[in-house]
Amino acid sequence: ITSQVPQAASSPAASTSQVPQAASTDASEDIMCTICQDTITDEASINQCSHIFCFACILEWSRRNAVCPICRCPFQYIYLYPK
Ligand SMILES: [Zn+2]
Ligand SMILES: [Zn+2]
Repeated sequence: ITSQVPQAASSPAASTSQVPQAASTDASEDIMCTICQDTITDEASINQCSHIFCFACILEWSRRNAVCPICRCPFQYIYLYPK
């Protein structure tokens, strides 16, 4: 068994455009959810501030604690943003 990889040896050194970090530099819409620490899936906000979260996250959160996880203001409603 030979461990040679001919494609890697013959490829020019200019193939660095496949780094996934390039997508995050210009994507200001990639908002993180502070509850799950991941990219927001179903964008939802609450009625007392403009912070946004995953709808599922803030819904689950509100069952225990109906305050904003970021600014701690109490809220009564969750708004699910249309896609
Ligand atoms: Zn979330
Ligand atoms: Zn808030």
